[in-house]
Amino acid sequence: PPVVAVVGRPNVGKSTLVNRILGRREAVVQDVPGVTRDRVSYDATWSGRDFVLVDTGGWAPDAEGMAAQIAEQAELAIATADAVVFVVDATVGTLDTDEAVVRVLRRSRKPVVLAANKVDDQRSEAEAASMWNLGLGEPHPVSALHGRGSGDLLDAILEALPEAPRSTEPVVGGPRRVAIVGRPNVGKSSLLNKVAGRQRSVVDNAAGTTVDPVDELVEVDGVVYRFIDTAGIRRRVKEASGHEYYASLRTQAAIERAEVCVVVVDASEPLTEQDLRILTSVEETGRALLIAFNKWDLTDEERRRYLGREMERDLVQFGWAEHVNISALTGRHVDRLGPAIEQALAGWETRVSTGKLNAFLGRLVAAHPHPVRGGKQPRILFGTQAQTAPPTFVLFTSGTLEAGYLRFVERRLREEFGFVGSPVHLQVRARE
Ligand code: GDP
Repeated sequence: PPVVAVVGRPNVGKSTLVNRILGRREAVVQDVPGVTRDRVSYDATWSGRDFVLVDTGGWAPDAEGMAAQIAEQAELAIATADAVVFVVDATVGTLDTDEAVVRVLRRSRKPVVLAANKVDDQRSEAEAASMWNLGLGEPHPVSALHGRGSGDLLDAILEALPEAPRSTEPVVGGPRRVAIVGRPNVGKSSLLNKVAGRQRSVVDNAAGTTVDPVDELVEVDGVVYRFIDTAGIRRRVKEASGHEYYASLRTQAAIERAEVCVVVVDASEPLTEQDLRILTSVEETGRALLIAFNKWDLTDEERRRYLGREMERDLVQFGWAEHVNISALTGRHVDRLGPAIEQALAGWETRVSTGKLNAFLGRLVAAHPHPVRGGKQPRILFGTQAQTAPPTFVLFTSGTLEAGYLRFVERRLREEFGFVGSPVHLQVRARE
């Protein structure tokens, strides 16, 4: 879905407006100048159109330190947005900082909807009209607090968006969706903070009451990714035993929404059943996979040797996934995540032409025929790649192939065509 960023300097009522657009009634976080806020995105709908709403922190382009960081985030938000809602406070009028934002917006060439907020009654509409002087087109008077004018504003936002893609085809393009998953305390939240480049905390309405998944757009090596359900990752609440069930539901939901999953494992402790369950779930859901062995700084020679044995024993079935040995604490090898994520996505989306596939299958079957069973020789007649993401092959056969032979075929397919970081699914259609 298209992305709409809401920007404006602190205290103009961005969060209130975001809540208004989302149709929430909860009290909102105060938009305090100087308080670090993350960009937080939400799924929104208006007139049957879905879009993603990104709430940015306050904006003060000329300020140092904190404010500069906030500004940087807002600039990133604008760069990744399809349209921008620029919020000004009609009761205050335009300030120099607004002008600075306007320059950034012009440079971005993104469609801008100008929201003149705090127009709580008809009398203040004249103040809104003075916002024409920003040169961003018609100001839309709105009262985020009372809802006045918000329907018209939403109509204007939809008009500013690029045409909706036809039907329900999956949206290509847009930031790739990454889920960081793993059992509690393995360092997911530390890793997210490290990857995002600085310590940040999600500011959400009424802490602890929200059940919305919160995604964040994060730039890694110049590529913007959408990190899925960061509220779930960052949740600090100790999970009571009853909550484990919900935690695993949340993990599964994140895996399903993701294109690529980074499964974080605590390298300093023995692998657990739960680690393996999460890995298996990623494979079965058909997502690209990257295994991050975290807390590498806590491992000694002996532990690393034992980990090697655990990998041979328990992780062979995930041998196709890239491993990175990292420390979210020291930052060791965290820079390898970006390239590994890209590689896994490339493997996940590999397409093999029918011609190449069948040339390969022909050679394979000739050199390694299926063993004869009951006087019959099952054979692969031909194959085709039915899907990508993950690569899914349909093999047309005479007779039924044994599971061991299928594993052999998968191994050879991987040797020939790659698919690093991706599950490969094989389906068999037997012709008798
Ligand atoms: P989460 O529950 O998976 O999000 O885990 P956290 O990020 O909250 O980390 C759990 C604990 O492990 C915290 O005390 C972190 O400081 C610590 N931790 C995380 N990563 C590392 C690491 O690479 N090395 C060390 N030594 N400690 C880490």
